[in-house]
Amino acid sequence: VQQFFRPIQILSQFYTQAQSALAAVERIFLLLDEPAQLNDAPDAIAMPPIRGEVTFERVSFGYKPNQLVLKDVSLRAKPGQTIALVGPTGAGKSTIINLILRYYDVTSGAIKIDGIDIRKVTQASLRKQIGFVLQDNILFSGTVAENIAFGRPDATQAEIEAAAQVANVHEFITSLPQGYATLLGAKGANLSKGQRQLLSIARAVLVNPRILILDEATSSIDTRTEALVQEAIDRLLSERTSFVIAHRLSTVTQADQVLVIQQGQIIEGGTHSELIAQGGVYANLYALQLGAA
Ligand code: ADP
Repeated sequence: VQQFFRPIQILSQFYTQAQSALAAVERIFLLLDEPAQLNDAPDAIAMPPIRGEVTFERVSFGYKPNQLVLKDVSLRAKPGQTIALVGPTGAGKSTIINLILRYYDVTSGAIKIDGIDIRKVTQASLRKQIGFVLQDNILFSGTVAENIAFGRPDATQAEIEAAAQVANVHEFITSLPQGYATLLGAKGANLSKGQRQLLSIARAVLVNPRILILDEATSSIDTRTEALVQEAIDRLLSERTSFVIAHRLSTVTQADQVLVIQQGQIIEGGTHSELIAQGGVYANLYALQLGAA
C-alpha cells in the first residue's frame, strides 16, 4: 500500500518548519530510511513569497530509470484554485504531490511556481511555504497548543486560538480538562480520528500557506464531527492554491478543477459538472458511486 507520501518526508518537513528536535518525532525519524536527498543548486535562490500559481509543463517522472510513473503531465493551477486529484490507487496522485514539494526532480519537463522553476530555489524556502494536512497527522507528546503551533512555534496563544476557531476545534479544546494546556500523547487525552483531523487543520490554518496539500481521510467519522471537518476543510481551502487527494464528494464537486489520473496520465480534467456533461470515465465513476450509496 502506497502511503500518501513517505513519512520520512513529512518528518523532514516538520524539522524544517519547527527547527526543534522533539523526542517523539526523533524516535520515529531514526526508524526510517533516509530518502535520497536532492541538493540545492549552487546558485539556488530563496523562493520569494508565493502567490500560488502552479504549473506542470509536460512532466514525466519515474522513481526508477525506465519506469515512468507520470507521463507527460501538464496542468495549471491559478492562485487560489482548488485542484482535486482523483483516480485509482497507484495512479500517481501522491507522486504529483511529491514533485510539487520537490522530494524528487522531474525526469523531463518542468514544474513552476509563480513562473519559477522549482529546481532553481532552495528546498527549505519552497517547503516552508507549502502546508499540508495528511490522513494521519502526527501529534506529539505536548500540549494541545504546542501541537497546533508546530509549524509556527512563535505563535501567540491568541493566534493559536483563532486558528482553532477557524478549524472548528476551539469548542472541543475548551471542553478538555486543561483546555489548550491539556497534554496529548501516551499519557494525554485520547483523541478521536475526527478530532485529530481538526487539530491538523488548525495547524495548517495557523501557518496560512499560499499552497496547501490535503489528503482527505477515507475513514468515516461520526456525523457531527464529519460536518465540522467538512466546514473546516472548506475554510482551509478557500483563498489558497490547494491540491487535494479527494475522497469527499463535496470537495470534488466544489473544486475549480477535477483532474482524473490514471496510469500516470491526466485522462480528463474540468469542473465536476463539465466532466459529468462529458460523459467519460469520471461521469461513470460518479454514477457508480451514487448507485452504491
Ligand atoms: P496514488 O497516490 O495515485 O495511489 P502513487 O503516486 O503513490 O499513486 O504511485 C504511483 C506509482 O508509483 C505506483 O506504481 C507506485 O507503486 C509507485 N511509487 C510510489 N512511490 C514510490 C517510491 N517511493 N518508490 C518507487 N515507486 C513508487
